[in-house]
Amino acid sequence: MPRPVKCRRVAHIPGTIYFKPAGIPLRELDEVVVSVDEIEAIRLKDIEGLEQEQGAEKMNISRPTFQRTLASARGKIADALINGKAIRIEGGNIEMAQHRFRCGRDGTEWDVPPDAMTQGQPQYCPECNTPQELPITPPAFYGRGRGRGRGRCHGGSRW
Ligand SMILES: [Zn+2]
Repeated sequence: MPRPVKCRRVAHIPGTIYFKPAGIPLRELDEVVVSVDEIEAIRLKDIEGLEQEQGAEKMNISRPTFQRTLASARGKIADALINGKAIRIEGGNIEMAQHRFRCGRDGTEWDVPPDAMTQGQPQYCPECNTPQELPITPPAFYGRGRGRGRGRCHGGSRW
């Protein structure tokens, strides 16, 4: 099994996912794709005014990774503004996409995508089949609190 990529914590998902210059049909535009974690880096640094160290901590990544993510985001956005390209925001290695459950009986942990969490039905432990009512990291967790909370996402490993 491939080693999972460590997720970046994102507190805010942009509501608008497409920007384009006015008056030009989309098919005639180049587009840049900015990932949600890149947008989050921009938001933390440029909107909330955090230092890189703080932003890195919020996203649960190292400061160099935060800096790289930020530089990548700014580069893409600058490219779009200067060269008249569309901007699509999507994807990225983000933590919000999963709900992690932990079995109260044997401690097994597993991830459940949001679309599998329908109507509050319990999730069943893959090991012992015990129903679980609540994820250990409910969505309300994100965007609150401080602290690193390392290892919450796929056990965390490396970049
Ligand atoms: Zn179990």
